[in-house]
Amino acid sequence: MFKKILVANRGEIALRIQRACSEMGVKAVMVYSEADREAKYVKLAEEAVCIGPASASLSYLNMPALISAAEVTDAEAIHPGYGFLAENADFAERVEKSGFQFIGPAPESIRLMGDKVSAKQAMIKAGVPCVPGSEGELPDDPVQIRRTAKAVGYPVIIKAAGGGGGRGMRVVHTEAALINAVQMTKAEAGAAFGNPAVYMEKYLQNPRHIEIQILADKYKNAVYLGERDCSMQRRHQKVIEEAPAPGIPRRLIERLGERCVAACKKIGYRGAGTFEFLYENGEFYFIEMNTRVQVEHPVTEFITGVDIVKTQIMVAAGEKLPFTQRQIEIRGHSIECRINAEDPFTFTPSPGRITTWHTPGGPGVRVDSHIYTNYFIPPNYDSMIAKIIVHGDTREQALARMRTALNETVIEGIQSNIPLHRELMVDANFVAGGTNIHYLEEWLAQHK
Ligand code: ADP
Repeated sequence: MFKKILVANRGEIALRIQRACSEMGVKAVMVYSEADREAKYVKLAEEAVCIGPASASLSYLNMPALISAAEVTDAEAIHPGYGFLAENADFAERVEKSGFQFIGPAPESIRLMGDKVSAKQAMIKAGVPCVPGSEGELPDDPVQIRRTAKAVGYPVIIKAAGGGGGRGMRVVHTEAALINAVQMTKAEAGAAFGNPAVYMEKYLQNPRHIEIQILADKYKNAVYLGERDCSMQRRHQKVIEEAPAPGIPRRLIERLGERCVAACKKIGYRGAGTFEFLYENGEFYFIEMNTRVQVEHPVTEFITGVDIVKTQIMVAAGEKLPFTQRQIEIRGHSIECRINAEDPFTFTPSPGRITTWHTPGGPGVRVDSHIYTNYFIPPNYDSMIAKIIVHGDTREQALARMRTALNETVIEGIQSNIPLHRELMVDANFVAGGTNIHYLEEWLAQHK
């Protein structure tokens, strides 16, 4: 096992990884930008290194600064968390070339999956069902683009091959709007992701977002840890996640999970990963794979008892997966609410000083958060400040526990989306289960 790991991230996930290290007896070196000096995990750290100014491009995205921090502290491995450089194949490669272990898959796997066009092609080859669309990147020729759209059938969605975080997507309903939409998405993709390539998919009207968590070691052992339902989204960004997905037959999930495991073995995947699907009319369609730990990993930890972050570290250190598929049992139901520092109904970010923070507790309640009373939320980064996760024997119990937890939570000094979560946890359709990816946006439009 590693003696020391550098945590190349910030916020709640930095603390999550620090906790895993502490439990494993591995030293964790924390990094921070000038804006994150006061973060909880920096105060708790035995060792912490300032890697640059507030701007992420000069700190959390600064590869030489991160690698130097690992060098000066004698760390053996680097955990990238999620976001920032977590899915940057060049970073993984530079980490390994500098003599450190990257806690994640091989750079080639990240590269394959980081380009959504090559990812889909690999999945088709591995027998994983995909959303129908252009086979590969769209050409420049308008005649060919129109022909592809006609064959796929309107509405279609134009997506950036290098896109992520819910950005770089445009829905097209008519042929008249098609060429302009392709050109705009290309221009945006080039500017935002440094890759103007776009592809086309059929725009599914009322799907749910269902994803499969997998874990694999370097000896070609792989398991799936059930599914998560992440259909409650705003602007293609997840707001609430749960596991298992309500109302989907277990045998469908099992069949899909087995396909994902087979695909992992086929591409020689190592570490934690998530296969994301849209689910409509009893069918699953692959949209992308994330080659890192995800924000919503705790709901899977609750229903399986597996510590995903610890397992990531173990397999990166060359250990075998400590369990087989038969040992993975799904127990109960788990729900996560992402707590953001923002106006709950206009979504304007609300950074600033927190004057009071009371966390909820009790059986089956987990809070992953780096904030504390008197902490100043810097305006420079993502607005997510906490995750409240609950577990119950049944979905009803999990919902009741989440309602209680949200009522116990006190946050003052800034605005948060807790009032929104409180309303959603009593919404009849959400409570019934199985809402689709448009439900939250429609709900918000009606509750203006
Ligand atoms: P990102 O990498 O930016 O998260 P994804 O490809 O995972 O992008 O898509 C994010 C979300 O966008 C999905 O969860 C879904 O809500 C929506 N979406 C993506 N592709 C389609 C599609 N073909 N039809 C309908 N909705 C889609």
